[in-house]
Amino acid sequence: MKSAPLNLPVAVIGAGPIGLSAAVHLLKRGHTPILFEAGEQAGANLSSWGHVRMFSPWSYNIDPAAAALLKQDGWHEPDQDQFPTGQELLKHYITPLATHALIAPHLHLNSQVSHISRRNHDVLKTKGRDTTPFVLRVVTPDGERDVIAQAVIDASGTYQTPNWLGAHGIPALGENAASNAITYGVPDILGSARDHYTNKTVLVVGAGHSAFNALQDLAQLAEQTTDMRILWGVRSQSVANIIRSPENDELQERRLLEVRIQELLDQQKIEIHSKVEIDAIKQDNNKLIVHSGRHSLPPVDRIIAATGFRPDLSLLAELRTTIDPATQSPSRLAPLVDPNLHSCGSVPEHGAAELSHPEWNLYIVGIKSYGRAPTFLLRTGYRQVLSVISALDSDEEPAPVQPCPAPTCQG
Ligand SMILES: Cc1cc2nc3c(=O)[nH]c(=O)nc-3n(C[C@H](O)[C@H](O)[C@H](O)COP(=O)(O)OP(=O)(O)OC[C@H]3O[C@@H](n4cnc5c(N)ncnc54)[C@H](O)[C@@H]3O)c2cc1C
Repeated sequence: MKSAPLNLPVAVIGAGPIGLSAAVHLLKRGHTPILFEAGEQAGANLSSWGHVRMFSPWSYNIDPAAAALLKQDGWHEPDQDQFPTGQELLKHYITPLATHALIAPHLHLNSQVSHISRRNHDVLKTKGRDTTPFVLRVVTPDGERDVIAQAVIDASGTYQTPNWLGAHGIPALGENAASNAITYGVPDILGSARDHYTNKTVLVVGAGHSAFNALQDLAQLAEQTTDMRILWGVRSQSVANIIRSPENDELQERRLLEVRIQELLDQQKIEIHSKVEIDAIKQDNNKLIVHSGRHSLPPVDRIIAATGFRPDLSLLAELRTTIDPATQSPSRLAPLVDPNLHSCGSVPEHGAAELSHPEWNLYIVGIKSYGRAPTFLLRTGYRQVLSVISALDSDEEPAPVQPCPAPTCQG
């Protein structure tokens, strides 16, 4: 490792699937991880969407190195071909890993990293920078402290920073004022959030799998109730631009979900509104009126904003990062994940070279590394981590992969 003293730990931010995987690989290579998790349990973001069934099977969702560690203690690997819910992933994989005797001593729960810098080096100062340790400000219920580390792996996810409903990328006029009736992400419609949606008119906004999951659950709830109406607002001109996984999609569950949504549309159980670009949300008699240019949608009781997520980069403001201005992913990764270039979601294998920054020994990994691009898979994250941690042991620049040529990636 080129930089700071080797006896310092490597800091990992976030104990989601990818942060935990980083801890496993660090231990395997003889490093000491120090893992900070803002939530009160590992996998805190996963638990927010625990009711959602994943579209990738167990074989994609477990890091082989973590599985090997768990198996030493008699852990039984779940059936490779089954599709877990987020909650099942938490129960059968994340929690056993986080509480494993080798990982648990390095994991600090209720510990939010609020800032990262180099010791006595603000972002402007160059001299000696690469050999100076990182400083992480960690906020806990007992107060704040600074922790020194030789490298930083940011696996803090994006789930806490959803995109706005507003089509301009900023809140629609009135969006904040209507926040009591808006849920961002995928609410547990058939479980804890049921009362919010029973016999209500609900608008789902978004065109990804989170929107499909919400629509599917709303349709199921509607079958059990008397008076529900489900609206679906999308920016596209037609559904054909949205429901487009190839029939031979290697993730068949993803394809099946799309087929189910198409059936619900054909049966007119969902009302689609295309070319919806929300600029204002007004409140009228306890209803929300969504405006898109000169048009408005029928009044609704609630809105589900399944409009994706964005990374919170404020944590890294005092470090020398190169972030692509469009995708908000590390610049060298951007051409591989940019949805403007690749619509089918297949991202070539990549690693430390694409994830590196001018700031030596800093890496963003996991879903946060994709910035605003929506196609991240856990399996990719586990490979990222493997490459990044090998790179920590080397002074050599890892070789970048070639960007995927657009024609092979067009959906
Ligand atoms: C509804 C939904 C379904 C998905 N389905 C699939 C699927 O089927 N297959 C698949 O491969 N992928 C799926 N994904 C995408 C992705 O794999 C998951 O989002 C996954 O949880 C990403 O893992 P991660 O470790 O990168 O981030 P996260 O799981 O989000 O973990 C980040 C962790 O960092 C913590 N944290 C955040 N900020 C800080 C801070 N400042 N300090 C300390 N800790 C912090 C959070 O509390 C959290 O525990 C899905 C995503 C969603 C939202």
